[in-house]
Amino acid sequence: MDAQAKLELLSNNMHLEPAEERRIDLPPSAHQLAPCGHSPADLKSAVDQVQSGKESSLETRKNSLGIHNAVMPGGKHIALLKTLLTSACERDCYYCPFRAGRDFRRATFKPDEMARTFIDLNRANIAEGLFLSSGIAGGGVRTQDRLLDTADILRNKLHYRGYLHLKIMPGAERDQVERAMQLADRVSINLEAPNTRRLVDLAPHKVFIEELLRPLQWAEEIRKTKPARLGWNGHWPSLSTQFVVGAVGENDLEILSTTAYLTRQLHLARAYFSAFTPVPDTPLENKPAENPWREHRLYQTSFLLRDYGFDLEDMPFMPNGYLPLDVDPKVAWAKQNLSESPIEINRADRRELLRVPGIGPKGVDAILIARRKGKLRDLKDLKSIGVIVARAAPFVLLDGRRPMQQLSLW
Ligand code: SF4
Repeated sequence: MDAQAKLELLSNNMHLEPAEERRIDLPPSAHQLAPCGHSPADLKSAVDQVQSGKESSLETRKNSLGIHNAVMPGGKHIALLKTLLTSACERDCYYCPFRAGRDFRRATFKPDEMARTFIDLNRANIAEGLFLSSGIAGGGVRTQDRLLDTADILRNKLHYRGYLHLKIMPGAERDQVERAMQLADRVSINLEAPNTRRLVDLAPHKVFIEELLRPLQWAEEIRKTKPARLGWNGHWPSLSTQFVVGAVGENDLEILSTTAYLTRQLHLARAYFSAFTPVPDTPLENKPAENPWREHRLYQTSFLLRDYGFDLEDMPFMPNGYLPLDVDPKVAWAKQNLSESPIEINRADRRELLRVPGIGPKGVDAILIARRKGKLRDLKDLKSIGVIVARAAPFVLLDGRRPMQQLSLW
């Protein structure tokens, strides 16, 4: 089988592994609803584009190889090849299309072959970055060695200096984690579940603390204790993880408690949430798919915890530990806390401004700069600096006055 045929085989099911997001151009109203870039509306629009034939045949060909437009940490857009060294796996995770014993055609690359295949695509300007994972064959340590060999060939023999996201395998050793951090821009290991109890029902042969959480803790220890010049390009890489959502009865509070720990203690750049979709011929094939809106609410809440200064206790959890699907969590908090005590835009500090719906970190910066020049007196002033006024208006004062009555002007 040639390399392109292998990439095509491997790309089947890679959509189940969210990494850097696929780029989708959204209408302005969708941006307001989808800060994660990953809402049901986005997914529908992507499918519509393909079905209506708007996506070019080159794009379709690239997608068939596993190459997608993706947003990098920092916001740059690139064509990212998302693939595996092998789709053979000796483990039997209940949700996974690559699990051992499942009957489908598998493909395997040797490290040198993968490195050269990618560099050919890179030099032809077809793929600008690489996300590389693998099924487990011969144990986590040996599989990790093959991933490291691939990265080493790319960086040191083929002199590739572009974006590389390298997966850490369950059971990898600490030295291997450090080596990956010397070669990659981002490293990640999928926790899959929020705790040991839930992982047992999802992936019975993975060990939550020792195999999955420990490598993330090692990575943060290495970043804290060793000089950054030892990392790739003089920086230690960012860290991320992924959770499968809705397969085994875990609630949002469980997932977000673990996410909050990872964000605050291990400085995780990003947690990815993947709404469960049943895969035929797996033990969970008869479980219903999870509602994609749940994934969206988890993303929104994780950003509120990471970037907006909110705590878990601020979030509108229901008694069963789930977030309501029909309410934006920031709006829910504001309705409870700001409806009667609106924030004065001209005096509030950064922390207070960040709590207002429609105002994000960039909006706060713009408000603080605008205030140096004079008072912000009406919604037009706020709109001109990028605030989503329809969302912010019920919760703010402008020069001592509620701006609600001005909404009809917009
Ligand atoms: S170890 Fe990874 S590839 Fe293998 S079955 Fe589990 S999730 Fe799938």
